[in-house]
Amino acid sequence: MNFSNLLIKWYLQNKRDLPWRNTTDPYPIWLSEIMLQQTRVAQGMPYFLSFTTAFPTVFDLATASEEQVLKLWQGLGYYSRARNLHKTAQYIASDLNGIFPDNYNELLKLKGVGEYTAAAIASFSYNEVVPVVDGNVFRVLSRYFDIETDITQASAKKEFAALAFELMPKDNPAIFNQAIMEFGALQCVPKSPNCTICVFNESCAALQKKKVDQLPVKSKKIKVRNRYFNYIVASDESENTIIHKRIAKGIWHNLYEFPLLETDQEEGFNFVAEQIQNEYFKENIISSISETHEKSILHKLSHQHLHIKFWKVNVEGLIKDGINQETLKTLPFPIVIHNFIEKELN
Ligand code: SF4
Repeated sequence: MNFSNLLIKWYLQNKRDLPWRNTTDPYPIWLSEIMLQQTRVAQGMPYFLSFTTAFPTVFDLATASEEQVLKLWQGLGYYSRARNLHKTAQYIASDLNGIFPDNYNELLKLKGVGEYTAAAIASFSYNEVVPVVDGNVFRVLSRYFDIETDITQASAKKEFAALAFELMPKDNPAIFNQAIMEFGALQCVPKSPNCTICVFNESCAALQKKKVDQLPVKSKKIKVRNRYFNYIVASDESENTIIHKRIAKGIWHNLYEFPLLETDQEEGFNFVAEQIQNEYFKENIISSISETHEKSILHKLSHQHLHIKFWKVNVEGLIKDGINQETLKTLPFPIVIHNFIEKELN
C-alpha cells in the first residue's frame, strides 16, 4: 500500500472525534484553525465550544464587541489572532453577506488567514486540491522521506507543499490533509515517537537510518528576551483599583493590566517602593506597600520571558478613575493577570 493509502487508513482507524471535523461549514472550520495555531487541541477545544455557543454564526461574531471577543479568548494567548478573527468576521458579515470566499487564493486575502489556514479551509470546506503545510507536515514528511532541508528556510514550505501535493489523492484532498496533521499530532510526535507500533515502520527512511531524532532540521534558534514587570495593584477606601488598556502594539494589545513599572532587572522592595512613592498616586497618601509573592512569576511567551511581580498598594481616600471589583472581572486581561485577580483579589 502506498504512503497516502496507508496514512488515510491509519487516520480512519485512529482519528479523534473533533466537532469541527463533522462539517464542511467554513465558519467553524475557520474558527478552529485560527484557535489551534500554536495551541494543542485539548487546550483549544473549550474555547472553540464557548465561541460557537456565544457566536453561532459569523454575524454573531461580527456584532460582538472586541472586549467580548478578547474576554472569551482570555488565556489562549497570541491575542492578535482574536482581533483579526473579529475584524475578518465583520468583513465577511458586512462586505461578503456572511459568505466565506470559496477558494484558496481568495481565502488568503482575509486578515489573519495565512497559507496554512487558507489551505485547510479550502480543502475541508470546498475540497480544493491544496496541501496544508504546518509543523506536523514538515515532521512527518521529512522523517518518512529523510529530507534534510532546513524547515526554517523560506523555500522549505514550497518544497514540502510540492511533495504533499504529489502525494495527495486528487479526488479527496481533505482527508489527506486531515490525516497527515492527525498523524503528526498523535503518532509521529516531535519527541520520541513510538516507531515500533507505527504503520510506516517498514518504510520510514528516518527510522531505517536512525535519524528520527534529527529530523526535521530546524536551524534558527529563537532569541528570548527577558522582561521584568512590576504590577501596581492599588486599593483605596472603597477597594477600587486602577487599570489601563494596553494600546501600544506588541504583546497583549488591547487587553487590560494594572499600572506597570517595567525595570531592566528584577528589583526588590526598596527600589520598587521608592518608584511607587515618587511616581504614582500623587494625590493620595500611600498607607502600605507589599509584595504579594516572594518570587516573581515566570510567564513564557514565544519570544519573551516575563518575570512578573505584583505589588499591593493601599492608599487613603479614593483613587481618581478607580474601578470596582465587579467591573474588573468583566474585562479581558492577559491570563497571568486574570489568575492573579481570581486568586488574590477575591
Ligand atoms: S516510523 Fe517513527 S519516525 Fe517514521 S513515520 Fe512512524 S513514527 Fe514517524
